[in-house]
Amino acid sequence: MMAISMSLLQHVCSVPIARAMRPRSVTVISSRSLSTTTSSSSTPSRASQVDPHVLLGMSEPELQQLATDLGQQSYRGKQLHHLIYQRKVKEIQDFSQLPLVFRNDLQEAGWKVGRSPIFQTVTAADGTVKLLIRLEDNRLIETVGIPVEDEKGSMRLTACVSSQVGCPLRCSFCATGKGGFSRNLQRHEIVEQVLAVEEIFKHRVTNVVFMGMGEPMLNLKSVLEAHRCLNKDVQIGQRMITISTVGVPNTIKKLASHKLQSTLALSLHAPNQKLRETIIPSAKSYPLDAIMKDCKEYFLETSRRVSFEYALLAGVNDRVEHAKELAELLHQWGRGHHVNLIPFNPIQGSDYKRPHKKAIQAFAAVLESRKITSRADASQSLVGCVSDGISHLSLPQSARILLLDDQASWCLQACSLWCNLEFASALRLQK
Ligand code: SF4
Repeated sequence: MMAISMSLLQHVCSVPIARAMRPRSVTVISSRSLSTTTSSSSTPSRASQVDPHVLLGMSEPELQQLATDLGQQSYRGKQLHHLIYQRKVKEIQDFSQLPLVFRNDLQEAGWKVGRSPIFQTVTAADGTVKLLIRLEDNRLIETVGIPVEDEKGSMRLTACVSSQVGCPLRCSFCATGKGGFSRNLQRHEIVEQVLAVEEIFKHRVTNVVFMGMGEPMLNLKSVLEAHRCLNKDVQIGQRMITISTVGVPNTIKKLASHKLQSTLALSLHAPNQKLRETIIPSAKSYPLDAIMKDCKEYFLETSRRVSFEYALLAGVNDRVEHAKELAELLHQWGRGHHVNLIPFNPIQGSDYKRPHKKAIQAFAAVLESRKITSRADASQSLVGCVSDGISHLSLPQSARILLLDDQASWCLQACSLWCNLEFASALRLQK
């Protein structure tokens, strides 16, 4: 944990937007001025307790109970549920289906819907949209919407959501970590990110990945509550939800005990403990053996495949020996895994560099030769995809290699970058 930093606001707002303003790659489609009170000067609060007067995040039975508590019949609670999650009405005074007296009672009791304004959106050439959402305390969080059209013309829309404002873990490659930590998000602040993506795209979100700002396992209570709401109230299938982690002791087991039908994505980034600690300082408190054992338990408890994320950093973890070691590690682990190899995209202030294509191909070939990948020759499967700003080596099923070019790198940093663009690419690969 650390103090708030040289300005989280600056990190969240200035850097990505400045980058995003590069004319060839993005278009800023909306912008509003920020209040004079900035988050960086506020006292940090790490609480993630549910605001007792926020409707968003409440289940239908809870809303029915609220209605009866306020002297209404319980079907008014059903109407509330419909207005919040289907109609997506943002203000109580706009609940025009409800009697005025009920709306007034809700407001007088201090209730609010719990939706925040979208501060800014930035759209990439491939249609990916990054949203900055301004929370009630003026802090900003990032959310990304990734649209992918399948061959039948229907759109799959993935929302990459943040779970914290900033992050305390300081992974060495990550700009979010460098920006410091401010506070955990409440459940409604996670759910509203998905609704905001739906609002921007005017389309239902089909997939959710907890891979934006923050470490979800450090805010597991809110993440689980948001997961419930997204599944039951917003009606996104559990299998369409992925929860990512760099590994926080005792949390993977806890997550597994809920037996969710969602994917766990572990940010591995190294095939051994020593190297992993240099990339992810928090790994010191969670040995690789233990983390792999817990991931196995997740697989056994849920029957859901674990996705191992591996950021390739030039000269650090991208050598053939590392690939052999990774293959060995995964063979010991057994079935039920999937590897995403993600060549690093340099970010401002980082010493890490992106590996050469040959190194990436060699790494992939080693995995493939050890049956970690299912297609024969990685070098032959190189696909240049300039039109959407992303090029990739396609290695299906157990490993994928994704090469993100400069055009695609505008919007996201580090943790967010892995996730969002990787998923954007992965989704496109599945077309
Ligand atoms: S990579 Fe993820 S867990 Fe690590 S510092 Fe960045 S946001 Fe936090």
